[in-house]
This record gives sequence, structure tokens and C-alpha cells, in this order.
Amino acid sequence: MHRNPVISDVLIGDAVEERKEPDPYDDVKDVEAKGPEEKWEYFSNLIKDCTRCYACRNACPLCYCPTCFVDESDPQWVGKSSDPTDTMTFHILRAYHCAGRCTDCGACEQACPVDIKVRSFTRKLNKDTLDLYECEAGLSIEERPPLDTYRPDDYDKFIR
Ligand code: SF4
Ligand code: SF4
Ligand code: SF4
Repeated sequence: MHRNPVISDVLIGDAVEERKEPDPYDDVKDVEAKGPEEKWEYFSNLIKDCTRCYACRNACPLCYCPTCFVDESDPQWVGKSSDPTDTMTFHILRAYHCAGRCTDCGACEQACPVDIKVRSFTRKLNKDTLDLYECEAGLSIEERPPLDTYRPDDYDKFIR
């Protein structure tokens, strides 16, 4: 979607207008329009072949934690089995860990040996971040990610 480099040593030519079409979140909106049961079916099907090899996590530039939550054993945040509940927990938690930071680079999907569209999870959160905070990751080197900041004048009282 973005045609101008965020940082560059030399920019040849002037910055060009950003692309407005097609809507980058058409696919996310299709999923959002589904009912709860359809959504459950969609996400269950999406991860049914996942072997939990963690190639998606290993390829992600955001996943640099010394010990990932899936590798912790004390406490054990998620079961190690390929039970669908454990697999879903891995995908949902990893997606939330990337919320507000994912640039949709696609490295996770490219690394998956069984071609699972893991960006279906992160792209939904990218869209939410844009809708709620008007923020897209990777477009500013000064701004902190939205879930990493605190505003004393936040409109939600619970945070004050
Ligand atoms: S790379 Fe694919 S198979 Fe491996 S954990 Fe990620 S989604 Fe599952
Ligand atoms: S999934 Fe979460 S805990 Fe694991 S490496 Fe990525 S950000 Fe860290
Ligand atoms: S698309 Fe997002 S979650 Fe996937 S590798 Fe890139 S930054 Fe990580």
C-alpha cells in the first residue's frame, strides 16, 4: 500500500501519493461479516494442518523474546500438544503479541511449510489498530507502538 520509503539515504524523485485502492482490508471485512459459528469454522479450518513447528514465529522480526511463551514450562501458558485448543491458543496469543507492531511483511506466511495463512490473525489486529488508534506499524521511526504508550488524557477512565 505504501509507495514511499519510510527512511532512505537518498530518495530519487519526489514522494508520490499513497495508494487508496483497493481496500487493503477487504479480506478481513469478509471474516468480520461472518457469524460466530462461521468464524469458528473459518479459524478452525485455517489452523487444522498446523504442526506447531513455530517457523512462523521464528521468521517474524517481532518474535525475539529470549523465551517465547510457548517454550515456558514454569508457568506453562499453553499445552505442547497439537490439540486444536492448544494450537488456537498459540496463534491467538502470538497475534496479540504482534498487535500494533506487525508491518504485514509476510515473513510468517512465507515460512510456513504447510501454507497456513497466519496473517489472517495479525491482519485483523492491524485493522483494529488502524481503526482504534489511527496507527500503522512501520510508518514512523519516532512513534512508539500504540499499545506501548500511555496518555494521561486517555478517554478511558480505567487507565487513569
Ligand atoms: S509455520 Fe505453519 S505449521 Fe508451523 S507453527 Fe506456524 S502456522 Fe503452524
Ligand atoms: S509469540 Fe510472543 S512470546 Fe513468543 S517470541 Fe513472539 S512475541 Fe515473544
Ligand atoms: S506479517 Fe507480521 S506477524 Fe508475520 S512475520 Fe511480518 S511482522 Fe511478523
